[in-house]
Amino acid sequence: MMSDLFSVAIDGPSGAGKSTLSKRAAAEFGFVYVDTGAIYRTVGLACSRKGVDLLNEEEVAAVLSELKIDIRYDSTGLQRMILNEEDVSDQIRTPEISMCASKVSSLPTVRAFLLDMQRGFARKYSVIMDGRDIGTVVLPDASLKIYLTAAPESRAKRRFLELQEKGIETSFESVLEDIIQRDYQDTHRAIAPLKKADDAVELDTSELDFEESFRALCSIISNHKEN
Ligand code: C5P
Repeated sequence: MMSDLFSVAIDGPSGAGKSTLSKRAAAEFGFVYVDTGAIYRTVGLACSRKGVDLLNEEEVAAVLSELKIDIRYDSTGLQRMILNEEDVSDQIRTPEISMCASKVSSLPTVRAFLLDMQRGFARKYSVIMDGRDIGTVVLPDASLKIYLTAAPESRAKRRFLELQEKGIETSFESVLEDIIQRDYQDTHRAIAPLKKADDAVELDTSELDFEESFRALCSIISNHKEN
C-alpha cells in the first residue's frame, strides 16, 4: 500500500549539528523529529546507573529486560526521554553519558531492542529521524537520506561552546578527543557502523554557520519533496 508519509533519514558523526538542524527542519516541514541518539543515551544512563559492564552483552541484556523507555513530546514538540517514569532528558546530555551510549550501542542486543521502537515512528508519522544507521538499517526505504558531516575540529568547537553554555566544565582538547574516540567507536563497530548510505545526499557543514546549514538542509528536503 502506498503511504503519504514522508521520512527523512539523517546520519552522521557526533557534533555535526544533526539534532539542532533536524529539530528545526522538522518544525519547518511539520514532521515529527525523532532523536535516536537520545534513546541510546537513555539505555547508556540506565546501564551506568546499574553499574554494569557496558560492553558485556549479558549484563546489559539483564538491564534491558527491566527497562521501560518512553518518548514524549512536550507542548513545543520537543522530545523528552522518560526512563521508568523519570524524565531524564537533561541527565543524558553529559560527556560521560555520551561515552556510555557509544559503548552500549555497539551491542547487537541493544540495537535489536531499539529497532522496532524507531521503525514504529516512521510507520505512524512523517518523520525526520537522526542517528548513525537510520538510512542504512532502520529506514532503508526512507523517502530521503542525508549524510550530515563536518571536520572533527569544527564539530568539537561547536560541542565545546554548547557545553560551556550549559555550564558543563570541560576543555576543548577533551571534547575533541571525545569526538575522535566516538567517531572511531561508531565507524568501527561490527554491527550497524556509521557510514554513508549509497543513496544519501552528503551535506558538509564545516564551513557553514547554523543558518547556512539550515538553509542547505531545507533546500535538499524541499527539492526532494517536489520531485
Ligand atoms: O547522536 P548522539 O551523540 O546523541 O548519540 C549518542 C551515541 O549513540 C552515539 O555516539 C552512537 O554511538 C549511538 N547511536 C547509535 N545509533 C544511532 C544513534 C546514536 O549507535 N542511531
